[in-house]
Amino acid sequence: MTIDEFEQWMAARQVTRTVLTLQQHHTFSPSYANFTGSNHFSLLVGMKNYHVNYNGWADIGQHFTTFPDGMIATGRSLELSPACIKGRNANAICVENVGYFDAGKDNMTAAHRDVIVRSAAAIVKRFGLPVNTDRIVYHHWFDLNTGARTNGNSGSVKSCPGTAFFGGNKVAHAQANFLPLVTRALGGHFGGQLTGVLKFGYVTAQSLNIRTGPGTQFSRVGATSLGAILRIYRVQNGWYKIAKNREEWVAGNFVTDVQMAEVANADRLNVRSGPGTSFSIVGTYLRGEVVFIFEQKGTWAKIGLDERWVSRNFLKIL
Ligand SMILES: [Zn+2]
Repeated sequence: MTIDEFEQWMAARQVTRTVLTLQQHHTFSPSYANFTGSNHFSLLVGMKNYHVNYNGWADIGQHFTTFPDGMIATGRSLELSPACIKGRNANAICVENVGYFDAGKDNMTAAHRDVIVRSAAAIVKRFGLPVNTDRIVYHHWFDLNTGARTNGNSGSVKSCPGTAFFGGNKVAHAQANFLPLVTRALGGHFGGQLTGVLKFGYVTAQSLNIRTGPGTQFSRVGATSLGAILRIYRVQNGWYKIAKNREEWVAGNFVTDVQMAEVANADRLNVRSGPGTSFSIVGTYLRGEVVFIFEQKGTWAKIGLDERWVSRNFLKIL
């Protein structure tokens, strides 16, 4: 798609999965040297084959891929978490930008800059995300082994999306260079997806039908899958309305309530493999990051389907 086409496509997209972050990456390989101007699809197939056959993933890792000529391609379904940043894929959209944007490597074209900025704006707009470095994130800011957010200052990290990506790959570079361009591309205020939300819930069935009304007699318009966090706008006869402006309903008995919470009262919050300090540290969140509480045990909160726990004392329920 061209970026004009993408903006319209994105605005019209219905996505049941709750999206909270947008990840920016560079592909490193393929780089600009591999792009001929007409081989978009063969590069995508190459990446998909690598992800499926070498990494053992179900599909290509990213949702979107941008190219040096300003084109953008779809990839993994938006209803699925990406496979892009270990420990940080739930509730994320992943964009891979074809190129190697470390200093002294590929020199990003003007068309590429345009599609990266405008696609980020279109995604942020569609999902009602605030433009800040909690929600628009670079791979470099997360430890490769644990998913802990280190902002690239410690641990084992990649340079991705590149040490010269819009002037640098640090949080300060994003704030000074990239985010202002995204804000400008947004061109004004927009309503967030979270206004009017009654509560959140996660899907407990492998696949859950979406229907045009609150009952099985209504026609099926799609499905959402295990672990997806839904926004529930209305409850009727045990059915949940999961879209703000459309009739999209799911059976409530396959959805378990979760609470949205923000990391507060601590600059860093450890994620552990179980509900207690005796369990090993498997990640870190920073103040202001948002999580969903799936389950509670004492003063501990489970923040996903897998065993990832944080102390509730440092969470503020939103
Ligand atoms: Zn990356």
